[in-house]
Amino acid sequence: MRALVFTAPGTVELLDVPEPDPAPGEVLVQVRAAGICGSELHGARHPGFRKPPLIMGHEFAGLTAGGEAVVVNPILSCGHCGLCRRGLRHICQEREIIGVHRAGGFAERVAVPASAVRPVPPGLPWETAALIEPAANAVHAWNRAVGALGAGATGGAQVAVIGCGAIGLLCVAVALSSGAQRVEVSDLAPARLAAARRLGAAAGGPALDGEYDVVIDAVGSAATRAASVAHQRPGGTAIWLGLADSDPGFDASALVRAEKRVLGSFAYSDEEFARATALVRGWDLAWAAGYPLAEGAGVFTELMNGGLHPVKALLWP
Ligand SMILES: [Zn+2]
Ligand SMILES: [Zn+2]
Repeated sequence: MRALVFTAPGTVELLDVPEPDPAPGEVLVQVRAAGICGSELHGARHPGFRKPPLIMGHEFAGLTAGGEAVVVNPILSCGHCGLCRRGLRHICQEREIIGVHRAGGFAERVAVPASAVRPVPPGLPWETAALIEPAANAVHAWNRAVGALGAGATGGAQVAVIGCGAIGLLCVAVALSSGAQRVEVSDLAPARLAAARRLGAAAGGPALDGEYDVVIDAVGSAATRAASVAHQRPGGTAIWLGLADSDPGFDASALVRAEKRVLGSFAYSDEEFARATALVRGWDLAWAAGYPLAEGAGVFTELMNGGLHPVKALLWP
């Protein structure tokens, strides 16, 4: 079968590879749409957890051998450590991710544990189903803010989202679907700000203005982390999902004097994945563009080098 393979730092290639051979307890998924994640573009240039050769792809949906439409929850956990037992399986110490630690969805077919597949609601387009995984990250980010501020404080909340890539846009959509009163956005690209407005965000601009109950940083640079603290009202919350660099970059004394808060957000619970599955149908997702898998190496490389600008690129095996 054909697969897009990460073969060396900075290099992905479309190759003929052996058919996956499902182990006991695994199912074969015929991939119909797979999203390319910013973490993969970064990981291909700076290999960390992803070690070549690897078929990436952790945001995908497809058909089982029995013809059932499924979306894959790529978070695999041990099921018995203290964190798993506390319901925190997404931060399990033995966590593995399909497409990161084992072959993922940038291929015609992939074998995954049967426990990782979830039914796709009838009639949901494949391109939308492939956005359930990133949307689940946004649901989790919002729930982190609700957990910090209390449900009463986030209903009617003033929210800001820094960075209108796919995750930032999905955070806009989740916040507005979950009771936020107003969501302001910042991004340097006018097209991304326009996509945010189509989801219901306020006008937006290159930088934030004012103070917010919740500031979501979907970029993760030193500058955006500093902005997430600076534009947070006293006693508010910043949620960090971005991983652009590891420099904190913010004024830590503000956390003391104004009781500001910064919370990390990674992945999602099974319930949050299910909530994302229910929510995605209602949103304007026209900012995602699909390409045949055959063009995958060129698309991935162009995205990696900044030469291609859909907010979200999906591959169609
Ligand atoms: Zn991702
Ligand atoms: Zn565990």
